[in-house]
Amino acid sequence: MSGAVVAMPALLGVYRPAPPVFVAGSGSWLTDAGGRRYLDFTSGLAVNALGHGSVVVADAIRDALGCGLVHASNLFRTRPAAELAEWLVAHSFAASVFFANSGAEANEAAIKFARRWAREAGGAEKHEIVSLRGSFHGRTIGALSITDRPEYRRPFEPLTGGMRIANPWAPGELEAAVDAGRTAAVILEPVQAEGGVRVLPPELLRRVRAVCDAAGALLMFDEVQVGLGRTGTLWAYETTGVVPDVLTLAKPLAGGLPMGAALLSERVAAAVRPGDHASTFGGGPLVASVALAVCRTVAEPPFLASVRSKALLLDSWLAALARRESVVEVRGTGLIRGLEVREPAAAVVDRALALGLLVCTAGPATVRLLPPLTIPDAELRAGLDLLEAAL
Ligand SMILES: *Cc1c(COP(=O)(O)O)cnc(C)c1O
Repeated sequence: MSGAVVAMPALLGVYRPAPPVFVAGSGSWLTDAGGRRYLDFTSGLAVNALGHGSVVVADAIRDALGCGLVHASNLFRTRPAAELAEWLVAHSFAASVFFANSGAEANEAAIKFARRWAREAGGAEKHEIVSLRGSFHGRTIGALSITDRPEYRRPFEPLTGGMRIANPWAPGELEAAVDAGRTAAVILEPVQAEGGVRVLPPELLRRVRAVCDAAGALLMFDEVQVGLGRTGTLWAYETTGVVPDVLTLAKPLAGGLPMGAALLSERVAAAVRPGDHASTFGGGPLVASVALAVCRTVAEPPFLASVRSKALLLDSWLAALARRESVVEVRGTGLIRGLEVREPAAAVVDRALALGLLVCTAGPATVRLLPPLTIPDAELRAGLDLLEAAL
């Protein structure tokens, strides 16, 4: 053994974390090891919807631990997963729910269930999943195969077959991509988040729904980032007039504990048989208890109304920022917003951090804002003042 030893970080270098080491959180604030406080407009990537140190989350964890049941596996029945599934069914189009542990896993499950349904509907040829230009659905091989990010895909090719990405803004491209004999499902994010915070217009969603119906294909919405209140309604699809056959959820679902879900319409659920899919951890009693508390909190009409009123404030404040020379465009809805800037978005993120504001990027040129849904109006304003200084 000889030669220089290269010191490798024990934590694998797949991330480029910012310098602060966070040791505490409260509401919209994080505190680093040096005692400095930062206003958090990332919410752990849309996960901490109720803010840090949420009493709802802490109480739910404590209550769930009280009976000593963290995990039992899906060999057995536990109550929280069943109650959470019933709640989700009662509050959506869905007839049945599968629980996973992340957004990518929820989408993997959705792909499998779509293929299961399509095989019965149209035979083995009917297996293709069509996703859209600008999409992000996760980093596992299947989810990556429906994600339109060449730089994430290229080092890991070949990806999964039977996937196709269509540009819905190119005349006829979507119609050509979706075929009655071949297509099992189209998957899309009603608000493309990682792809630059782009709200898909309702007329586009209606067109995709019509194309799917004409081809006997399912329509699947990935609301992993924008579902559960972030747009000011419980589900992002509610305001579009378009209802999907499958909906995937994850980020805010269990208050910071890992959980994903695939919500299925009756015809999709009816095609799934015991043994078709499984997850050792999926729907465990601890995470499901916490998720139920989060869901009940977010779905309260006054809670959703407060998100909408914060969104209105953001509309007017961001309209002022949009007139700045350094800003190309402001996009988004509810409490997910993107500012396209004339310099690398990462430079704005770094300057905001130095000023004590945490924001993130959505692609190379867009600064993304994801404040907690519980943020007080004054802190929302304070964050925008810091953002303006960073610009
Ligand atoms: C974050 C995200 C995913 C992936 O979720 P993970 O939990 O990181 O696997 C999938 N779809 C969308 C829309 C996302 O924002």
